Amino acid sequence: MEKTGIKHILQMEPQEQELTVQGWIRTKRDSKGIAFLEINDGTSIKNLQAIAEQTLPGYDDIMKRINTGCSVAITGNLIPSPAKGQAVELKVTGIEILGEAPPDYVLQKKRHSFEFLREIAHLRPRTNTFGAVARVRSAMSYAIHSFFQERDFVYIHTPIITGSDCEGAGEMFQVTTLPLEQVPLADGKPDYSQDFFGKKASLTVSGQLEGETYALALKNIYTFGPTFRAENSNTSRHLAEFWMIEPEMAFCDLNLNMDVAEEFLKYIFSYVLEHCGDDMEFFDRWINKGTIANLESIIKSDFKRVTYTEAVEELMKAKADFEFPVKWGTDLQSEHEKYLTEEVYGLPVILTDYPREIKAFYMKMNDDNKTVRAMDVLVPRLGEIIGGSQREDDHDRLEARIKEFGLDPADYWWYLELRKFGGVPHAGFGLGFERVIQFVTGMKNIRDVIPYPRAVNTLEF
Ligand code: ATP
Ligand code: MN
Repeated sequence: MEKTGIKHILQMEPQEQELTVQGWIRTKRDSKGIAFLEINDGTSIKNLQAIAEQTLPGYDDIMKRINTGCSVAITGNLIPSPAKGQAVELKVTGIEILGEAPPDYVLQKKRHSFEFLREIAHLRPRTNTFGAVARVRSAMSYAIHSFFQERDFVYIHTPIITGSDCEGAGEMFQVTTLPLEQVPLADGKPDYSQDFFGKKASLTVSGQLEGETYALALKNIYTFGPTFRAENSNTSRHLAEFWMIEPEMAFCDLNLNMDVAEEFLKYIFSYVLEHCGDDMEFFDRWINKGTIANLESIIKSDFKRVTYTEAVEELMKAKADFEFPVKWGTDLQSEHEKYLTEEVYGLPVILTDYPREIKAFYMKMNDDNKTVRAMDVLVPRLGEIIGGSQREDDHDRLEARIKEFGLDPADYWWYLELRKFGGVPHAGFGLGFERVIQFVTGMKNIRDVIPYPRAVNTLEF
């Protein structure tokens, strides 16, 4: 199939031959027997301008029926444009209206708030902002696959329905076919032996544990799929359904893990700047001034690497007024993460070696027996976008940690066996896809970087 979109047409030389453009009318200006139509088909943030003159057969009738939002097929000649900001325009010889849009079409030229647009999520991709988000999201997905494929990582599809709780955090959605109005009970509790899988099942919060099993066979793997967390947090950075990228590397320690994470982020940033120039200029101009320069400078700099302990010292001597006080052992809140990246270092920061109490059971214990080999990548404006670690590869220590978290080692028998048979040092991380899109575009709310956001009390569409 050949490219026929407006993105492609805008790059073409003026042509003798007529061509037909299909798309939606963004605006119509007509005066004194000449009409200027802005057509957009979603392939580019840019519109193609079509100019129709009164000599066009049926001109008056067609112009009456053309409104913002209607779909058209317009035939004409591509000619050099005298107007600024466009090399070509279309001199119209024929207009076919494919679908009308009566004046109650809500997306008229005026600006709508993002909150309102969320209520019409089926139409919002037709706006400049949401079209640009969708194109950047697509390009970033491609870049992510390219990065790993170019480095011989194998893409693994880990299951979405799971019997284990990876994080042990209990923020899981249950999956069941038991009748909710009359759940069969055994000893006063739901009798999962009668459920579809014969045991309790949930939607996955991470593909990591299964990913590890493949890393310990194929060396370097990654997953890229949806994950689910029933977190009742109404923030601008959390969704109930989001996409996560999780590379896992065998024969890998925390330092290499950090190197890969840093190289990976810089690769996606460069890719987007190179391939989504028009959309990024739009974000830079209308959504988040300076986002391009910011990404360019991040690509050139080394991320700051500090331990949790050093970061806490910085935070304790900070003059800032934190809502949550910090001392060694507390989990960092996003206000602290932002302070570190924005005020202290002015750069993305990789924090390592967190207290064992606040991190997951599978992270490798340090010799101090107090901290684990964790790494979080923090960025200005958002805080955490990556969470990762070197994994505990000692069977007995891992088993003890599972118990410490109140989990049953029997549920993790297969995960424990990786440490029994041919275990190796291995490490990996998880990047929240929507968080990194937020970072690149400057979009404030995570609900605006995924087509149909799922969050507490949000399930229209
Ligand atoms: P946070 O403290 O921000 O809730 P987390 O520590 O729970 O994050 P991890 O379990 O380490 O996050 O998950 C890995 C990555 O997935 C995070 O760094 C973040 O980018 C992303 N992520 C986590 N929870 C969500 C969510 N509810 N919605 C969107 N992205 C998320
Ligand atoms: Mn979380």
